[in-house]
Amino acid sequence: MEHLLSQLNQRQREAVEFCDGPSLIIAGAGSGKTRVLTYKIAYLLEQGLPPYYILALTFTNKAAREMKSRIAELVGEKKARQLWMGTFHSIFSRMLRSEAERIGFTSNFTIFDASDSANLVRLIIKEMQLDDKVYRPGAVHGQISRAKNGLLTPGMYAQNREIIEYDRLAKRPQLHEIYRLYQNRLKAANSMDFDDLLLYTNILLRDNPDVLENYRNRFQFILVDEYQDTNFAQHLIVKQLAGEHHRVCVVGDDAQSIYSFRGANIDNILKFKSTFPQTRIFKLEQNYRSTKNIVNAANSLIKKNKEQIFKEIFSENEEGEKIEVVSAFSDFEEGVIVANKIARMRFEEHARFSDIAILYRTNAQSRIFEESLRKKNIPYIIYGGLSFYQRKEIKDIISYFRLIVNPGDEEAFRRVVNYPARGIGDVTVRKLSEKARLHNVSLWEVISSPLQYNLEVNAGTARKLGLFHEMIGRFIAANETMSAFELAQMVIKETGIAREAYEDLTPEGMSRTQNIQELVNAINEFVSERKEEGNDAVRLVDFLSEVSLLTDQDMGDDDEKEKVTLMTVHTAKGLEFDHVFVVGMEEDLFPSSMAKSEPRGLEEERRLFYVAITRARKTCTITFARSRFRNGVTNPTRESQFLKDIDPRFLLMEQKTLTTSREGSADGFWESMRQRRESNMPERATPAPPQPVKRVPLQAAVSSSAKISEAAEQLMVGNVIEHERFGRGVVTSIELLGGDKRAFVTFDSAGQKQLLLKFAKFRIV
Ligand code: ATP
Ligand code: MG
Repeated sequence: MEHLLSQLNQRQREAVEFCDGPSLIIAGAGSGKTRVLTYKIAYLLEQGLPPYYILALTFTNKAAREMKSRIAELVGEKKARQLWMGTFHSIFSRMLRSEAERIGFTSNFTIFDASDSANLVRLIIKEMQLDDKVYRPGAVHGQISRAKNGLLTPGMYAQNREIIEYDRLAKRPQLHEIYRLYQNRLKAANSMDFDDLLLYTNILLRDNPDVLENYRNRFQFILVDEYQDTNFAQHLIVKQLAGEHHRVCVVGDDAQSIYSFRGANIDNILKFKSTFPQTRIFKLEQNYRSTKNIVNAANSLIKKNKEQIFKEIFSENEEGEKIEVVSAFSDFEEGVIVANKIARMRFEEHARFSDIAILYRTNAQSRIFEESLRKKNIPYIIYGGLSFYQRKEIKDIISYFRLIVNPGDEEAFRRVVNYPARGIGDVTVRKLSEKARLHNVSLWEVISSPLQYNLEVNAGTARKLGLFHEMIGRFIAANETMSAFELAQMVIKETGIAREAYEDLTPEGMSRTQNIQELVNAINEFVSERKEEGNDAVRLVDFLSEVSLLTDQDMGDDDEKEKVTLMTVHTAKGLEFDHVFVVGMEEDLFPSSMAKSEPRGLEEERRLFYVAITRARKTCTITFARSRFRNGVTNPTRESQFLKDIDPRFLLMEQKTLTTSREGSADGFWESMRQRRESNMPERATPAPPQPVKRVPLQAAVSSSAKISEAAEQLMVGNVIEHERFGRGVVTSIELLGGDKRAFVTFDSAGQKQLLLKFAKFRIV
């Protein structure tokens, strides 16, 4: 036991040892909250509590995995494996699967992701013949989501006078009806959206005392990380489960509450004590993560917020360097500055790329950094954005899987019924939908019994629907016996998806093929991992559950070694890096213009900035640009007001970095445009050293495969090439991909492209 406790300070140790009742650990960034949770679990295990009695809820799957592996180091692999540890969504979707019948679902229900949900909302708006400029699908879904997280069912929503009045004023009086239809359609499709996982868990526990009793006994000790970002629905689940034994420990930092736009409620942490009156509160004040300078800078920033629980965080680490604030003429130059600085850190200080992160406010900012890092041959990994599982070819295949597991899944059906093209057009799908609505059955049921539902289509269409039905039927039957891996291969082959991708020899087509291969590999790995854990039959439904619940933080590629991390500040919560760049610190970007229009919005943005700075262990660099290309135009920008919130003693700023007036910034803008043009010239030109070359006619060069592969062998960064389709371009970087080489090329007219050298048709000029 002592070997565990000796790795903690006095306060942390007390928090770990207190196990007799509810506790709340409220503390600043980097003070060891997650460490306390981890050690507390290890401590409970050492005390003899069996692992399957412990429920630990984290914000991401990645956090859960890291915590598990740390616990495995402390108390052994076997115990760690048996813990109930994961995100709210993953743990409770497991619970819902085994209790599905109680709430009118079957255990193979599928999960709609955000884009599926938005599609369904869009469809309903269309069917109701409402104006989608007033009823914007994203906004409508956002409101439905908030309603669910506040545990308002459609019935309750329609009876809530205040909300109905609000919708009327917002000129969306039909919103409650959309919500009702949306919920019915999901139910009819035996599907749930993300918010339903929490809503139905609450309903399940509320309406089934025996189920509640069962889970109360199973989860003898409940621990929750990042409690400040839980919403009402999550809070209530914890309250229900810990309702009798009160063995619950939550940790959080009110200063890091950054998800109110998703319905997270900082009050959950503030009111924890009134929910559990016996609560003992622990405060941790020593930051172990960062240098004194970083901690002091962050403290001075967060003091500007009115709403907060007072904490004084200190660090006994070294003083460290001041936070450097760098202004760039333009967003483009910002990218170059950051990439150069990273290259210097690597060569002068031997920093590892994996200890460096670039954090931004919005995903769209990543592109410029990708470009500048690539030019310098710096490897990087991006989290978030259009994730792997959101790519079209992957979603199409996953939709097949969903349909096999749950034929009622309407979104999945619509997506694949005519993909790859098999001559089943929109008109037919509309007819199917009408019949489905009329008889209150799924699209699948309509094509299963077309006569029963009086489906009127011509003979050709009927035959095509029949073939589709027969094919899916074959997959469903195969799913009874095959593993997820075997079935996936069968689906990709028999649907024709593989052939379609293989036959497309454009770079896009090749990258599609690679992605499909990647998916098959992922399934294979998943099956082997589960087998190692002792599960024999690993089914498609298991894989689907896993991928449906991935979050942004889980969405990097597998190999994080030696790569710079690029992610939004939201995604970086809970993580730490030696060197952090917080970029794009400009007014209306960070803080975002939208947040500024809401009363509590600015304080939330400031907390977000606090989260960003406190990710850094050793150095933190803040950058902003004086002009930025957004929404198709370049506009002058001003530095973020938050920069003035940090005590200047902890900042290293060039003289006159900050502008004092708007005019100043506009002047600076034109100056910057001039300089940008100039600074662009050498930058773009350097990769292409002038070379005396013999010009070979393009056709001759590409018609001989021997010459092409020769060209691929010789290709170097800086070469100018002539590509069969894209024309002239400069090679900006080359990387090894498995056994193959991939080149990044900036083409004069076609822009940036990636080429797989094995296949690419080009010559060096
Ligand atoms: P955040 O608010 O960002 O989630 P946190 O409060 O959860 O931060 P941790 O991530 O648990 O903080 O800890 C920050 C760093 O400090 C980690 O690297 C952790 O291992 C280290 N640390 C915490 N407490 C101690 C300690 N007593 N001795 C040594 N290192 C510690
Ligand atoms: Mg933490």
